[in-house]
Amino acid sequence: MSEPAAIPVIGRADRRERLRRAPSIAPKTLARLAKQHPNAKTELDYRSPFELVVSVVLSAQTTDVGVNKATPRLFAKYPDAAALAAAEPIEIEPYVATLGFFRMKAKAIVGLARALVEKHGGEVPQTMAELVKLAGVGRKTANVVLGVLWNEPEGVVVDTHVIRLSQRLGWTKNRDPEKIERDLCAILPRPEWDHAAHVLIFHGRRVCFARKPACPECRVNDVCPAAFEAEHVGRKSLPGDLKARAAKKAGAKTSKTTRSRAGSTAPPTKAGRKGDQERARTRKEGPKQGGRAPERAGARRPTASPRTPKS
Ligand code: SF4
Repeated sequence: MSEPAAIPVIGRADRRERLRRAPSIAPKTLARLAKQHPNAKTELDYRSPFELVVSVVLSAQTTDVGVNKATPRLFAKYPDAAALAAAEPIEIEPYVATLGFFRMKAKAIVGLARALVEKHGGEVPQTMAELVKLAGVGRKTANVVLGVLWNEPEGVVVDTHVIRLSQRLGWTKNRDPEKIERDLCAILPRPEWDHAAHVLIFHGRRVCFARKPACPECRVNDVCPAAFEAEHVGRKSLPGDLKARAAKKAGAKTSKTTRSRAGSTAPPTKAGRKGDQERARTRKEGPKQGGRAPERAGARRPTASPRTPKS
């Protein structure tokens, strides 16, 4: 078995210099990444502007693969805006039930179809101003549609991969998507805006993973400021990290309690022991009632299993 390649050591000064140069060489870096991913494009399957805009709305908080599995049956039954506009959201739910937030999404795509029919003769409008007025369509969705269909986005699509990659590559110091978009628009030429997002998304899905980025296989590891040390750059806190932090904090509190008890001659009271147990339980499971898991706040819980659609 061959030995794994040694990880190059990149000094602090070198990383600082890479960071300083990163924005000015961004178009070149992007071109090199594009060579690594010559087929970079949207991975959503669509046959018309209507199908694309619906697919993009459905892709929020879920994978393109999942959307592509759900849409063939949906579009077979509802092939255009008029057909979808005539349906009730409850009829659509079974077709999108495999996707997260399916009730909200069913309602959004029916609302979207109705607006397309009522205000745009069933066609997808071609301006940002008109697109963002449609149900479920925000700036990101509108930019995907404008970029993919007409290569005329009004900005760079900033999703989770674009956020992570642009931070690792030193193209932005911001965390807020709108500010990141501004930074990217400032350093990349306008004709590249649509392509840039696809290249970064491709690279994020295939090489520059959130956990364990494959830096040895990356074509730009000679200029990337985060190369070979990127694991904690541009990543959202993951459940594992949060658990580890909570455990560390709990450990610190426990030893503090133990220390204060150690300094006291009085044994722990029954109420004190109960309080400690309750605090530990709350840290582990969250509040007993009235509390919601933060990531689900605002989302409706499914109350019944979805029906299987008749195709
Ligand atoms: S060198 Fe590593 S961190 Fe930098 S872009 Fe490539 S894979 Fe990502």
